[in-house]
Amino acid sequence: MPVLDTLREKIRVVPDFPKEGIAFKDITPLLASPDAFHAMVNSFVGRYAGQRVDQVVGIEARGFVLAAALAYKLKAGLTLIRKPGKLPAETLKVSYELEYGMDTLEVHRDVVTPSSRVVLVDDVLATGGTICAALSLLQGLQCEVIEVAVLIELCSLNGRKHLQNHQVFSLLQD
Ligand code: AMP
Repeated sequence: MPVLDTLREKIRVVPDFPKEGIAFKDITPLLASPDAFHAMVNSFVGRYAGQRVDQVVGIEARGFVLAAALAYKLKAGLTLIRKPGKLPAETLKVSYELEYGMDTLEVHRDVVTPSSRVVLVDDVLATGGTICAALSLLQGLQCEVIEVAVLIELCSLNGRKHLQNHQVFSLLQD
């Protein structure tokens, strides 16, 4: 079976989670499958191998899983973008709108040196609000975002429209 079909098969769709109307893409069966997890990481590694990547930046929490594996294989650093109040040293913060209410993301100010070449990673690109907020943090750190990489892009939500100045790569589209 082609690799992408193997991955797609391992993503469980849970209707009405965490609230009515959301078809939640649960990647835990994919992560739990040795073959699928290996194939997923290798698909991203193949895309960036041969390029200079200084940092892979993951967004809490599921973005960390892919970002850590990718950083390890590329021999890059790993930077964490976290929910508010989790990072202990001085941070940059950004607040952004969710469907209902606001959320905040933070990154340590001193982890990425200016002009670092980074790949920003998350599991799902939905409306694009989360990645857009993460990109504004990376802009504040003055790094060069080579690409935004996600496992699944929910194309009907057109999250890419918020990320117009950036290259976006999704392994699977839905
Ligand atoms: P958004 O800011 O709308 O692009 O949402 C992206 C964030 O919400 C990601 O960090 C995802 O983990 C999560 N997310 C949004 N929609 C879904 C979905 N249908 N299934 C799983 N995760 C989702």
